[in-house]
Amino acid sequence: MQIIMLIDMDYFFVACEELRRPEIKDKPTIVGSDPKQGEGRGVVMTCNYPARKFGVRSGMPISQAYRIKSDAIYIPMDYDLYEKISKDVMKVVKSFADRFEQVSVDEAFIDVSKKIKSYEDSLDYAKRIKDTIKEKTGLPCTIGISTNKLMAKMACEAGKPNGIRLVREEDVKEFLNGKELDDLYGIGKKTKEKLEAMGYKTIGELAKANTMDLMERFGSFGVEIQKYANGIDESKVEENYEVKSIGREKTFEKDTADRDTVTTAIRKLSDEVIGEVKKAGLTFKAVTVKLRYGDFTEHLKSRSIRRSDDAGDLASNAVDLYLRYSDKSRPMRKIGVRVSDLTKARGQKKIGEFTS
Ligand SMILES: [Mg+2]
Repeated sequence: MQIIMLIDMDYFFVACEELRRPEIKDKPTIVGSDPKQGEGRGVVMTCNYPARKFGVRSGMPISQAYRIKSDAIYIPMDYDLYEKISKDVMKVVKSFADRFEQVSVDEAFIDVSKKIKSYEDSLDYAKRIKDTIKEKTGLPCTIGISTNKLMAKMACEAGKPNGIRLVREEDVKEFLNGKELDDLYGIGKKTKEKLEAMGYKTIGELAKANTMDLMERFGSFGVEIQKYANGIDESKVEENYEVKSIGREKTFEKDTADRDTVTTAIRKLSDEVIGEVKKAGLTFKAVTVKLRYGDFTEHLKSRSIRRSDDAGDLASNAVDLYLRYSDKSRPMRKIGVRVSDLTKARGQKKIGEFTS
């Protein structure tokens, strides 16, 4: 029997802020871009449950959050603090794992199939993990337990906040059946609309759909989502989690077509990215710039370069991609710089710290 858990910190960035300013606890609080009296750009990174009660959600434009709840407490991101606390959390989680895979700054899968032999024991075990994280960091989390990564994630969603939720193998079908299509991992708004147009309304209906029809419409992705709809996920908890890419983005205060403003931003972002690259002891071989215009159209332009960890290499290539491929007549809303094809620099210690 395979027992997989997903440990996911609750409203992580806000929870970190609460540690150093307990007075914000239980007040609607939003970590993200500066709302600037509703004129601000950028998004909500995390909000706590009191803010969610009013309809604020992470990923929402900060201006929209401000319209909903202008008197919430707004706090700018403090990556250094969150990464520091994340390391403490992950150290605890790892100590409980047979296999450990960190998937983001505040989430990790663990395989505990060797340590735990029954579902009853898994509940006690999860409680010990949860209590230890609380004791070491002061932070709440939710733990989903099931038979594979997909179902552990779905269980975790259902258990939020501050919960432990077990979905036994024999209960997977029933658990998934009546749920909305976009509750299923891998299905976004567009796929949901397409599936609904085909007559499927719930995960249970997708599970029983005609596979050929799905393939015709979605290709191999159709087969994959039908597997998910049946609670099937064969992916393993990957012990050697590696950072796939590191990037930073900037949203301009005002859409701009000014070349100097954009190149200055690219250089600054390049420096930040290189800071992360060096901290993780990595080198990169691919450079990508993301160009988003005022009308929200977006272009990604990439190139491979000689392997490097140098800020000058990154900035010059990123600026060149921008100059070569952007439409200078159209004002830009956002610029992003990203490196990928990462490898551990020689002589450096292990990769695996989450850095993006
Ligand atoms: Mg989380």
